Amino acid sequence: KRGFIRIETRAPSPEEALRDREKLSRQSFPLPTYDRHVLNEEQQKAYDAILELMRENRFAECLVHGITGSGKTELYLQLISETIASGGDALLLVPEISLTPQMTAHFRRRFGENVAVLHSRMSDGERNLQWNKIKNGAVSVAIGARSAIFAPFRRLRLIILDEEHEPSYYSEDAAPHYHAAEIAETIGRIRNAVVLYGSATPRVETYYRAVRHEIHCVRLTKRANRAALPEMILEDLREARETGTADYFSVFGEKLKHALGETYRAGKQAMLFVHRRGYAKQMLCRSCGSIMKCARCSVPMTYHEHGNRLICHYCGRTAPAPAVCPRCGSADFERHGTGTQKAVEELRKLFPDAAVLRMDTDTTSGKDGYEKILSSFAAGEAQFLVGTQMIAKGHDFPNVTLVGIISADSLINMPDYKAEERAFQLFSQMAGRAGRGSSAGKVIIQAYQTDDYAITAACRHDYAEFYANEITVRRNLHYPPFCAMCVLRFSGEEDRATYETASAACGKMRDAGVPDVEILGPARAEQPKLNNKYRWVITLKSKCRTSLTEFLAHWTEDGKMLKKIRGRANLSIRFDGR
Ligand SMILES: [Zn+2]
Ligand SMILES: [Zn+2]
Repeated sequence: KRGFIRIETRAPSPEEALRDREKLSRQSFPLPTYDRHVLNEEQQKAYDAILELMRENRFAECLVHGITGSGKTELYLQLISETIASGGDALLLVPEISLTPQMTAHFRRRFGENVAVLHSRMSDGERNLQWNKIKNGAVSVAIGARSAIFAPFRRLRLIILDEEHEPSYYSEDAAPHYHAAEIAETIGRIRNAVVLYGSATPRVETYYRAVRHEIHCVRLTKRANRAALPEMILEDLREARETGTADYFSVFGEKLKHALGETYRAGKQAMLFVHRRGYAKQMLCRSCGSIMKCARCSVPMTYHEHGNRLICHYCGRTAPAPAVCPRCGSADFERHGTGTQKAVEELRKLFPDAAVLRMDTDTTSGKDGYEKILSSFAAGEAQFLVGTQMIAKGHDFPNVTLVGIISADSLINMPDYKAEERAFQLFSQMAGRAGRGSSAGKVIIQAYQTDDYAITAACRHDYAEFYANEITVRRNLHYPPFCAMCVLRFSGEEDRATYETASAACGKMRDAGVPDVEILGPARAEQPKLNNKYRWVITLKSKCRTSLTEFLAHWTEDGKMLKKIRGRANLSIRFDGR
């Protein structure tokens, strides 16, 4: 009979979609208990200091420098409670990848319906719903990734940037390009709000401001759960290769191989970090561990097979690849980094019965891609997880007792003045992954450059030692925070046209001849070709941001310059330093 059965399809409403996602998340992750607990002495001191700032009803910035596991989150939660109680709104920013179901559930338990969650995987409908709740004052707390900084709160009193050192706070991938910390500072100033920067390994620039008392600082130096810090073991790859204890082309040294076996037999799990950046190969001497650097900029030069040359991505200087190491005379160079795939292959050979998961941009492209991999690992479906920086943060895996860093050199050698900083941050974060449960953790760092200060300081869990070294280097080589930098990136479909555009722009700048602005380039970008576009960069350095912006304003004044660029290349500008 017609009309008896009606087939109906309808899309779930944003609210339903949100609820479903959270339900799914709760199923796939075991929920830890996050009940409010009494602050320890250190936390209480930090809490009191920040509360005092908030009571002044003025703009203030404060670094929350706390080691992993020192209970920063509990501190945030209680400060947020206090903010709500006094009639204010609070915003907590976390890196996208840390915005886990664990964390969301955590917040819901504490604040119930009074919290909006904002992340980039939401549909427009879901986002709109949350945005309206904030605007109407229906919620007074929001937790979200980078773009949540623009949440339209009316009585914003507290802004927290957790893991403030995370590069994802800068919107590299899409316009508008901004750093969430800079926006937070501006909003804080306008709203008379308190801005907190939380990290175990703060950006050198942030720490420098704290040291100079430009911003406040509170410290958490003890692990709240009293768990011991993991044991750090350094494996010298030079030694291993010389004594023949390691297979020459093996990914794993003897110590790591042994520890992997132990972990596997004990029924525990291991995480292996690989820094894969296929496009940036450096030349590393296998005998003495030295790396070929630009004499002018002191950053590692990139090796290009084509023409067998080295290129500096700051000043554009190129040089033929040396036949022998300038320091020790050896002709034994390493020119290739290890990729995640190679590490997985070798693990499978060593442990044919083990399950191995791989996590990198190739395996996480789908919606909720990385959540699936991580929840599978959390559920114990695999013994080994191999991945890039994605695996370094945001998740507690109580059964992980071993963390391996396959090639520490590849991090240190990135052609970027911040390479040491990023390396130290990643080593520390990876160390934080080991031994979160009841058993003690172990971290093995494999490296050629074993005397590098990012490695040695990370092995001692010593941020101050790292900072002391790094700030000296920055001062000597004149990098931020001792100057302001600006990178103009030109990208276009035709290599030659893009180069010519950049070159013309550069010539125009040099003609302007402003003495306190140093102009470097044009040079090929670190990634010379991305999304089928060729990339060239010009780097500007000056004593402060203002002199750079004034210089650029002058440069673009007559409009002819920009008109010339338009149609031939895309131009994006990134500032660094204040
Ligand atoms: Zn050498
Ligand atoms: Zn250079």
